[in-house]
Amino acid sequence: MAKRYWQEEIECASREQITQWQNERLVKTVKHVYDNVELYRKRMDEAGVKPEDIKSIDDLKKLPFTYKQDLRDEYPYGLFATPLKDVVRLHASSGTTGKQIVVGYTRNDLDIWDDIAARQLYAVGADENDFVHVSYGYGLFTGGFGLHGGATKIGATAIPVSSGNTDRQVTILQDFGSSVLCCTPSYAMYIAETLEKKGIDPKTLNLKAGIFGAEPWTEEMRRQIEEKLNIKAYDVYGLTEIMGPCVSYECEAQSGMHVNEDHFIIEIINPETGEPLPYGEKGEIVFTCITKECCPFIRYRTRDIGVVTNEKCSCGRTFVKMTKPQGRSDDMLIIRGVNVFPSQIETVLLKMGYSPNYKIFVDRVNNTDTLLVQVEMTEAIFSDTVTKIKEHEKALEAELRSLLGIGADVQLVAPNSIERSMGKAVRVVDKRKLIDVK
Ligand code: ADP
Ligand code: ZN
Repeated sequence: MAKRYWQEEIECASREQITQWQNERLVKTVKHVYDNVELYRKRMDEAGVKPEDIKSIDDLKKLPFTYKQDLRDEYPYGLFATPLKDVVRLHASSGTTGKQIVVGYTRNDLDIWDDIAARQLYAVGADENDFVHVSYGYGLFTGGFGLHGGATKIGATAIPVSSGNTDRQVTILQDFGSSVLCCTPSYAMYIAETLEKKGIDPKTLNLKAGIFGAEPWTEEMRRQIEEKLNIKAYDVYGLTEIMGPCVSYECEAQSGMHVNEDHFIIEIINPETGEPLPYGEKGEIVFTCITKECCPFIRYRTRDIGVVTNEKCSCGRTFVKMTKPQGRSDDMLIIRGVNVFPSQIETVLLKMGYSPNYKIFVDRVNNTDTLLVQVEMTEAIFSDTVTKIKEHEKALEAELRSLLGIGADVQLVAPNSIERSMGKAVRVVDKRKLIDVK
Protein backbone atom coordinates (compact mmCIF):
# COMPACT_ATOMS: atom_id res chain seq x y z
CA MET A 1 0.00 0.00 0.00
CA ALA A 2 2.67 2.49 1.00
CA LYS A 3 4.31 2.17 -2.40
CA ARG A 4 1.50 4.34 -3.70
CA TYR A 5 2.92 7.12 -1.59
CA TRP A 6 6.20 6.98 -3.35
CA GLN A 7 4.86 9.34 -6.00
CA GLU A 8 7.84 9.05 -8.28
CA GLU A 9 6.10 10.54 -11.30
CA ILE A 10 5.49 13.70 -9.27
CA GLU A 11 8.35 13.87 -6.78
CA CYS A 12 10.95 13.07 -9.45
CA ALA A 13 9.29 14.90 -12.35
CA SER A 14 11.41 16.86 -14.83
CA ARG A 15 11.80 20.61 -14.32
CA GLU A 16 9.80 21.19 -17.51
CA GLN A 17 6.95 19.14 -16.14
CA ILE A 18 7.00 20.89 -12.77
CA THR A 19 7.04 24.30 -14.45
CA GLN A 20 4.14 23.29 -16.64
CA TRP A 21 2.08 22.26 -13.61
CA GLN A 22 2.99 25.47 -11.86
CA ASN A 23 2.09 27.64 -14.84
CA GLU A 24 -1.33 26.06 -15.30
CA ARG A 25 -2.17 26.01 -11.63
CA LEU A 26 -0.99 29.55 -10.95
CA VAL A 27 -3.17 30.96 -13.73
CA LYS A 28 -6.18 29.12 -12.35
CA THR A 29 -5.53 30.11 -8.75
CA VAL A 30 -5.02 33.79 -9.52
CA LYS A 31 -8.37 33.88 -11.30
CA HIS A 32 -9.97 32.03 -8.39
CA VAL A 33 -8.81 34.53 -5.76
CA TYR A 34 -9.52 37.53 -7.99
CA ASP A 35 -13.09 36.35 -8.49
CA ASN A 36 -13.75 35.35 -4.91
CA VAL A 37 -11.70 37.42 -2.49
CA GLU A 38 -12.26 41.13 -2.26
CA LEU A 39 -8.82 41.90 -0.86
CA TYR A 40 -7.06 40.20 -3.79
CA ARG A 41 -9.30 41.95 -6.30
CA LYS A 42 -8.59 45.31 -4.67
CA ARG A 43 -4.82 44.75 -4.39
CA MET A 44 -4.50 43.54 -7.95
CA ASP A 45 -6.61 46.40 -9.27
CA GLU A 46 -4.44 48.86 -7.35
CA ALA A 47 -1.33 47.26 -8.82
CA GLY A 48 -2.88 47.36 -12.28
CA VAL A 49 -2.73 43.58 -12.73
CA LYS A 50 -5.59 41.58 -14.17
CA PRO A 51 -5.82 37.78 -13.93
CA GLU A 52 -5.26 37.65 -17.74
CA ASP A 53 -1.83 39.25 -17.22
CA ILE A 54 -0.68 36.16 -15.34
CA LYS A 55 0.26 33.59 -17.95
CA SER A 56 3.13 31.74 -16.29
CA ILE A 57 5.32 31.71 -13.20
CA ASP A 58 7.46 34.40 -14.83
CA ASP A 59 4.57 36.78 -14.13
CA LEU A 60 4.52 35.94 -10.45
CA LYS A 61 6.51 39.03 -9.54
CA LYS A 62 3.71 41.25 -10.87
CA LEU A 63 1.44 40.05 -8.09
CA PRO A 64 1.17 41.85 -4.75
CA PHE A 65 2.35 40.13 -1.57
CA THR A 66 0.07 38.77 1.15
CA TYR A 67 1.03 39.47 4.76
CA LYS A 68 0.16 37.97 8.11
CA GLN A 69 -1.44 41.30 8.93
CA ASP A 70 -3.93 40.70 6.10
CA LEU A 71 -5.10 37.55 7.85
CA ARG A 72 -5.49 39.51 11.04
CA ASP A 73 -7.36 42.35 9.33
CA GLU A 74 -9.67 39.97 7.48
CA TYR A 75 -10.18 37.74 10.54
CA PRO A 76 -11.95 35.36 10.58
CA TYR A 77 -13.21 34.51 7.08
CA GLY A 78 -12.45 37.52 4.88
CA LEU A 79 -9.77 35.76 2.83
CA PHE A 80 -11.70 32.52 2.23
CA ALA A 81 -12.13 31.93 -1.48
CA THR A 82 -14.88 29.31 -1.17
CA PRO A 83 -18.35 29.48 0.37
CA LEU A 84 -18.35 28.47 4.04
CA LYS A 85 -20.57 25.49 3.27
CA ASP A 86 -17.61 23.95 1.42
CA VAL A 87 -15.24 24.41 4.33
CA VAL A 88 -14.85 21.18 6.29
CA ARG A 89 -12.12 22.17 8.77
CA LEU A 90 -10.71 25.23 10.47
CA HIS A 91 -7.27 25.62 12.00
CA ALA A 92 -5.60 28.54 13.72
CA SER A 93 -1.98 29.49 14.24
CA SER A 94 -0.48 28.87 17.62
CA GLY A 95 -0.24 32.62 18.07
CA THR A 96 3.51 32.70 18.71
CA THR A 97 3.77 36.20 17.30
CA GLY A 98 0.50 37.90 18.15
CA LYS A 99 -3.23 37.68 17.51
CA GLN A 100 -4.21 34.28 16.17
CA ILE A 101 -5.21 33.83 12.55
CA VAL A 102 -7.65 31.32 11.16
CA VAL A 103 -7.60 29.30 7.94
CA GLY A 104 -10.12 26.96 6.31
CA TYR A 105 -9.84 23.76 4.30
CA THR A 106 -12.19 22.17 1.80
CA ARG A 107 -12.37 18.39 1.43
CA ASN A 108 -9.89 18.68 -1.46
CA ASP A 109 -7.54 20.84 0.57
CA LEU A 110 -7.47 18.17 3.27
CA ASP A 111 -6.79 15.45 0.69
CA ILE A 112 -3.77 17.38 -0.56
CA TRP A 113 -2.53 17.90 2.97
CA ASP A 114 -2.86 14.18 3.76
CA ASP A 115 -0.99 13.45 0.59
CA ILE A 116 1.98 15.69 1.30
CA ALA A 117 2.16 14.40 4.86
CA ALA A 118 2.17 10.88 3.39
CA ARG A 119 5.13 11.91 1.22
CA GLN A 120 6.98 13.04 4.33
CA LEU A 121 6.27 9.78 6.13
CA TYR A 122 7.27 7.72 3.13
CA ALA A 123 10.50 9.71 2.86
CA VAL A 124 11.51 8.73 6.40
CA GLY A 125 10.84 5.08 5.65
CA ALA A 126 7.37 4.65 7.08
CA ASP A 127 4.76 2.32 5.63
CA GLU A 128 1.68 0.36 6.67
CA ASN A 129 3.72 -1.60 9.22
CA ASP A 130 4.57 1.50 11.23
CA PHE A 131 3.12 2.99 14.37
CA VAL A 132 3.14 6.76 14.01
CA HIS A 133 3.21 8.37 17.43
CA VAL A 134 1.91 11.92 17.01
CA SER A 135 2.88 14.14 19.93
CA TYR A 136 2.24 17.41 18.15
CA GLY A 137 -0.72 19.11 19.70
CA TYR A 138 -4.12 18.18 18.29
CA GLY A 139 -6.64 20.96 18.11
CA LEU A 140 -6.55 24.25 16.28
CA PHE A 141 -2.76 23.91 15.91
CA THR A 142 -2.02 22.15 12.62
CA GLY A 143 0.75 19.84 13.86
CA GLY A 144 -1.28 16.94 15.22
CA PHE A 145 -3.89 16.63 12.50
CA GLY A 146 -1.31 17.17 9.75
CA LEU A 147 0.88 14.16 10.51
CA HIS A 148 -2.15 12.17 11.59
CA GLY A 149 -3.72 12.55 8.15
CA GLY A 150 -0.51 11.42 6.46
CA ALA A 151 -0.17 8.39 8.74
CA THR A 152 -3.72 7.30 8.01
CA LYS A 153 -3.18 7.81 4.30
CA ILE A 154 -0.15 5.53 4.10
CA GLY A 155 -2.02 2.94 6.11
CA ALA A 156 0.24 3.14 9.15
CA THR A 157 -1.27 2.96 12.62
CA ALA A 158 -1.69 6.51 13.86
CA ILE A 159 -1.36 7.00 17.62
CA PRO A 160 -2.92 10.41 18.35
CA VAL A 161 -1.22 11.00 21.70
CA SER A 162 -1.07 14.81 21.32
CA SER A 163 1.37 16.78 23.43
CA GLY A 164 1.84 16.77 27.19
CA ASN A 165 1.85 14.16 29.94
CA THR A 166 5.36 12.98 29.21
CA ASP A 167 5.21 9.95 31.50
CA ARG A 168 2.26 8.71 29.52
CA GLN A 169 4.14 9.36 26.26
CA VAL A 170 6.90 7.08 27.54
CA THR A 171 4.46 4.33 28.51
CA ILE A 172 2.88 4.48 25.06
CA LEU A 173 6.29 4.41 23.37
CA GLN A 174 7.03 1.26 25.33
CA ASP A 175 3.66 -0.50 25.18
CA PHE A 176 2.30 0.39 21.73
CA GLY A 177 5.56 -0.06 19.86
CA SER A 178 5.68 3.45 18.35
CA SER A 179 8.15 3.43 15.46
CA VAL A 180 7.95 7.02 14.17
CA LEU A 181 7.78 9.91 16.62
CA CYS A 182 6.34 13.25 15.49
CA CYS A 183 6.69 16.33 17.70
CA THR A 184 8.65 19.55 18.11
CA PRO A 185 12.41 18.99 18.45
CA SER A 186 12.36 20.57 21.89
CA TYR A 187 9.72 18.09 23.01
CA ALA A 188 11.70 15.20 21.50
CA MET A 189 14.61 16.30 23.67
CA TYR A 190 12.36 16.36 26.71
CA ILE A 191 11.05 12.87 25.97
CA ALA A 192 14.66 11.70 25.58
CA GLU A 193 15.57 13.23 28.93
CA THR A 194 12.58 11.58 30.56
CA LEU A 195 13.65 8.19 29.21
CA GLU A 196 17.13 8.79 30.58
CA LYS A 197 15.77 9.74 33.98
CA LYS A 198 13.63 6.61 34.11
CA GLY A 199 16.63 4.52 33.12
CA ILE A 200 14.98 3.32 29.91
CA ASP A 201 17.42 2.40 27.16
CA PRO A 202 16.04 3.74 23.84
CA LYS A 203 17.37 0.59 22.18
CA THR A 204 14.62 -1.32 23.97
CA LEU A 205 12.00 0.75 22.10
CA ASN A 206 10.73 0.18 18.58
CA LEU A 207 11.49 3.78 17.49
CA LYS A 208 13.38 4.23 14.24
CA ALA A 209 12.65 7.74 13.01
CA GLY A 210 11.38 11.10 14.13
CA ILE A 211 9.69 13.92 12.21
CA PHE A 212 10.47 17.10 14.04
CA GLY A 213 9.59 20.66 13.12
CA ALA A 214 7.37 23.65 13.84
CA GLU A 215 10.28 25.51 15.42
CA PRO A 216 13.90 26.24 14.55
CA TRP A 217 16.49 23.68 15.63
CA THR A 218 20.14 23.20 14.90
CA GLU A 219 22.19 20.38 13.41
CA GLU A 220 23.80 19.90 16.83
CA MET A 221 20.38 19.36 18.32
CA ARG A 222 19.57 16.87 15.58
CA ARG A 223 22.69 14.90 16.48
CA GLN A 224 21.80 14.88 20.16
CA ILE A 225 18.24 13.72 19.52
CA GLU A 226 19.45 10.99 17.17
CA GLU A 227 21.89 9.76 19.73
CA LYS A 228 19.62 9.95 22.75
CA LEU A 229 16.60 8.36 21.06
CA ASN A 230 18.61 6.01 18.82
CA ILE A 231 16.72 7.14 15.72
CA LYS A 232 17.17 9.16 12.54
CA ALA A 233 15.70 12.63 13.01
CA TYR A 234 14.13 14.43 10.05
CA ASP A 235 13.14 18.03 9.68
CA VAL A 236 9.69 19.08 8.53
CA TYR A 237 8.53 22.58 7.74
CA GLY A 238 5.18 24.19 7.39
CA LEU A 239 2.97 26.99 8.53
CA THR A 240 -0.72 27.34 9.18
CA GLU A 241 -1.20 29.99 6.51
CA ILE A 242 0.08 27.74 3.73
CA MET A 243 -1.22 24.36 4.95
CA GLY A 244 0.37 23.22 8.18
CA PRO A 245 3.28 20.79 8.52
CA CYS A 246 4.77 19.14 5.41
CA VAL A 247 4.83 22.13 3.05
CA SER A 248 8.41 20.91 2.70
CA TYR A 249 9.85 17.61 3.83
CA GLU A 250 13.23 16.12 4.45
CA CYS A 251 14.42 12.98 2.67
CA GLU A 252 17.09 10.46 3.64
CA ALA A 253 19.82 12.90 2.54
CA GLN A 254 18.96 15.03 5.61
CA SER A 255 20.25 18.14 3.89
CA GLY A 256 17.32 20.47 3.50
CA MET A 257 13.64 19.99 2.81
CA HIS A 258 12.06 19.33 -0.58
CA VAL A 259 9.29 21.81 -1.27
CA ASN A 260 6.07 20.24 -2.58
CA GLU A 261 6.34 22.26 -5.75
CA ASP A 262 3.29 20.74 -7.38
CA HIS A 263 1.23 22.57 -4.73
CA PHE A 264 3.36 25.53 -3.66
CA ILE A 265 5.69 27.89 -5.46
CA ILE A 266 8.59 29.03 -3.34
CA GLU A 267 10.42 32.33 -3.88
CA ILE A 268 13.22 33.92 -1.92
CA ILE A 269 13.09 37.68 -1.72
CA ASN A 270 15.07 40.50 -0.23
CA PRO A 271 12.92 41.27 2.82
CA GLU A 272 13.65 44.98 2.58
CA THR A 273 13.03 45.61 -1.10
CA GLY A 274 10.75 42.68 -1.96
CA GLU A 275 12.98 41.86 -4.96
CA PRO A 276 13.19 38.14 -5.83
CA LEU A 277 16.63 36.63 -5.22
CA PRO A 278 18.27 33.80 -7.16
CA TYR A 279 18.58 30.27 -5.78
CA GLY A 280 21.44 30.01 -3.33
CA GLU A 281 20.95 33.45 -1.81
CA LYS A 282 19.63 33.95 1.66
CA GLY A 283 16.38 35.85 2.08
CA GLU A 284 12.76 35.72 3.13
CA ILE A 285 10.75 32.69 2.05
CA VAL A 286 7.57 33.50 0.11
CA PHE A 287 4.97 30.90 -0.86
CA THR A 288 2.18 30.88 -3.41
CA CYS A 289 -0.43 28.15 -3.08
CA ILE A 290 -1.50 26.81 -6.47
CA THR A 291 -3.89 23.99 -5.71
CA LYS A 292 -5.77 25.07 -2.60
CA GLU A 293 -9.42 26.03 -2.77
CA CYS A 294 -10.24 27.78 0.49
CA CYS A 295 -7.10 29.75 1.41
CA PRO A 296 -4.79 29.81 -1.59
CA PHE A 297 -2.61 32.69 -0.49
CA ILE A 298 -0.58 34.38 -3.16
CA ARG A 299 3.03 35.42 -2.50
CA TYR A 300 2.63 34.97 1.23
CA ARG A 301 5.48 36.56 3.20
CA THR A 302 6.46 33.94 5.77
CA ARG A 303 9.11 36.13 7.46
CA ASP A 304 11.19 32.95 7.68
CA ILE A 305 14.74 33.39 6.52
CA GLY A 306 16.23 30.64 4.40
CA VAL A 307 17.96 29.56 1.21
CA VAL A 308 16.59 27.52 -1.70
CA THR A 309 18.82 25.20 -3.71
CA ASN A 310 18.09 23.29 -6.89
CA GLU A 311 21.10 21.02 -6.72
CA LYS A 312 20.51 17.40 -7.56
CA CYS A 313 19.54 15.40 -4.49
CA SER A 314 20.90 11.92 -3.91
CA CYS A 315 17.37 10.66 -3.19
CA GLY A 316 16.26 11.30 -6.75
CA ARG A 317 13.56 13.82 -5.92
CA THR A 318 13.61 16.84 -8.19
CA PHE A 319 11.68 19.32 -6.06
CA VAL A 320 13.92 22.18 -4.94
CA LYS A 321 15.11 22.10 -1.35
CA MET A 322 14.96 24.83 1.27
CA THR A 323 17.34 25.01 4.17
CA LYS A 324 16.07 24.80 7.67
CA PRO A 325 14.90 28.36 8.40
CA GLN A 326 17.24 30.01 10.82
CA GLY A 327 14.31 31.66 12.48
CA ARG A 328 11.86 34.29 11.50
CA SER A 329 12.99 37.73 10.55
CA ASP A 330 11.00 38.88 13.55
CA ASP A 331 12.84 36.37 15.79
CA MET A 332 16.12 37.95 14.85
CA LEU A 333 17.49 39.98 17.69
CA ILE A 334 19.37 43.15 17.00
CA ILE A 335 21.73 43.60 19.89
CA ARG A 336 23.93 46.64 19.91
CA GLY A 337 23.40 46.84 16.18
CA VAL A 338 24.46 43.24 15.55
CA ASN A 339 22.02 40.67 14.13
CA VAL A 340 21.77 37.62 16.36
CA PHE A 341 19.66 34.55 15.75
CA PRO A 342 18.86 32.40 18.80
CA SER A 343 19.92 29.40 16.70
CA GLN A 344 23.51 30.70 16.65
CA ILE A 345 23.52 30.72 20.43
CA GLU A 346 22.09 27.20 20.51
CA THR A 347 24.86 25.99 18.20
CA VAL A 348 27.53 27.25 20.60
CA LEU A 349 25.84 25.79 23.67
CA LEU A 350 25.47 22.34 22.19
CA LYS A 351 28.98 22.34 20.75
CA MET A 352 30.31 23.10 24.19
CA GLY A 353 28.51 20.08 25.62
CA TYR A 354 25.47 21.71 27.18
CA SER A 355 21.85 20.62 26.75
CA PRO A 356 19.43 22.63 24.61
CA ASN A 357 17.74 23.87 27.77
CA TYR A 358 18.44 27.55 27.73
CA LYS A 359 16.85 30.96 27.85
CA ILE A 360 17.97 34.21 26.32
CA PHE A 361 17.23 37.49 28.04
CA VAL A 362 17.67 40.76 26.24
CA ASP A 363 17.30 44.06 28.02
CA ARG A 364 18.33 47.67 27.73
CA VAL A 365 20.25 49.18 30.61
CA ASN A 366 21.46 52.81 30.41
CA ASN A 367 20.66 52.82 26.69
CA THR A 368 22.83 49.78 26.03
CA ASP A 369 21.47 46.40 25.02
CA THR A 370 22.36 43.53 27.29
CA LEU A 371 22.35 39.85 26.43
CA LEU A 372 22.16 37.18 29.09
CA VAL A 373 22.17 33.48 28.28
CA GLN A 374 20.99 31.09 30.95
CA VAL A 375 21.81 27.46 30.37
CA GLU A 376 21.59 24.40 32.52
CA MET A 377 24.91 23.02 33.67
CA THR A 378 25.68 19.36 33.25
CA GLU A 379 25.53 17.10 36.31
CA ALA A 380 29.33 16.97 36.26
CA ILE A 381 29.70 20.74 36.40
CA PHE A 382 26.98 20.93 39.05
CA SER A 383 29.22 19.12 41.50
CA ASP A 384 32.17 21.43 40.75
CA THR A 385 33.32 24.25 43.00
CA VAL A 386 31.97 27.75 42.51
CA THR A 387 35.30 28.85 41.04
CA LYS A 388 35.21 26.03 38.49
CA ILE A 389 31.62 26.91 37.54
CA LYS A 390 32.71 30.52 36.97
CA GLU A 391 35.46 29.22 34.68
CA HIS A 392 32.92 27.29 32.63
CA GLU A 393 30.81 30.43 32.33
CA LYS A 394 33.81 32.43 31.14
CA ALA A 395 34.67 29.77 28.56
CA LEU A 396 31.15 29.90 27.15
CA GLU A 397 31.19 33.69 27.12
CA ALA A 398 34.42 33.66 25.11
CA GLU A 399 32.98 31.21 22.60
CA LEU A 400 29.77 33.23 22.20
CA ARG A 401 31.76 36.42 21.73
CA SER A 402 33.84 34.88 18.99
CA LEU A 403 30.80 33.54 17.11
CA LEU A 404 28.33 36.39 17.59
CA GLY A 405 30.79 39.24 17.51
CA ILE A 406 29.29 40.78 20.64
CA GLY A 407 29.61 40.07 24.31
CA ALA A 408 27.05 38.00 26.21
CA ASP A 409 26.79 37.17 29.89
CA VAL A 410 26.40 33.52 30.69
CA GLN A 411 24.75 32.15 33.77
CA LEU A 412 24.90 28.43 34.42
CA VAL A 413 21.84 27.26 36.31
CA ALA A 414 21.02 23.98 38.04
CA PRO A 415 20.12 20.95 35.92
CA ASN A 416 16.38 20.68 35.25
CA SER A 417 15.67 24.20 36.42
CA ILE A 418 14.55 25.61 33.08
CA GLU A 419 10.95 24.89 32.23
CA ARG A 420 10.47 22.27 29.48
CA SER A 421 8.21 22.85 26.53
CA MET A 422 5.65 20.36 25.22
CA GLY A 423 5.12 22.31 22.00
CA LYS A 424 7.03 25.22 20.55
CA ALA A 425 9.75 26.30 22.96
CA VAL A 426 9.79 29.97 23.96
CA ARG A 427 13.42 30.74 24.56
CA VAL A 428 13.77 34.47 24.16
CA VAL A 429 12.63 37.08 26.64
CA ASP A 430 13.16 40.46 25.05
CA LYS A 431 12.45 42.92 27.79
CA ARG A 432 13.04 45.83 25.43
CA LYS A 433 9.90 44.81 23.53
CA LEU A 434 7.95 44.52 26.75
CA ILE A 435 8.92 48.09 27.51
CA ASP A 436 7.92 49.25 24.02
CA VAL A 437 4.46 47.72 24.35
CA LYS A 438 3.72 49.81 27.42
P1 ADP B 1 2.68 30.38 14.73
O1 ADP B 1 2.95 31.34 13.61
O2 ADP B 1 1.65 30.85 15.65
O3 ADP B 1 3.91 29.88 15.42
P2 ADP B 1 2.57 28.05 12.99
O4 ADP B 1 2.43 26.75 13.63
O5 ADP B 1 1.85 28.26 11.73
O6 ADP B 1 2.08 29.10 14.03
O7 ADP B 1 4.11 28.33 12.81
C1 ADP B 1 4.77 28.26 11.57
C2 ADP B 1 6.18 28.75 11.76
O8 ADP B 1 6.93 27.82 12.53
C3 ADP B 1 6.95 28.89 10.47
O9 ADP B 1 6.66 30.09 9.81
C4 ADP B 1 8.39 28.84 10.99
O10 ADP B 1 8.78 30.08 11.52
C5 ADP B 1 8.30 27.86 12.14
N1 ADP B 1 8.73 26.53 11.66
C6 ADP B 1 7.96 25.52 11.22
N2 ADP B 1 8.70 24.44 10.90
C7 ADP B 1 9.98 24.77 11.10
C8 ADP B 1 11.25 24.09 10.96
N3 ADP B 1 11.33 22.84 10.54
N4 ADP B 1 12.36 24.78 11.27
C9 ADP B 1 12.29 26.05 11.70
N5 ADP B 1 11.16 26.74 11.88
C10 ADP B 1 10.01 26.12 11.59
ZN1 ZN C 1 16.23 14.36 -1.40
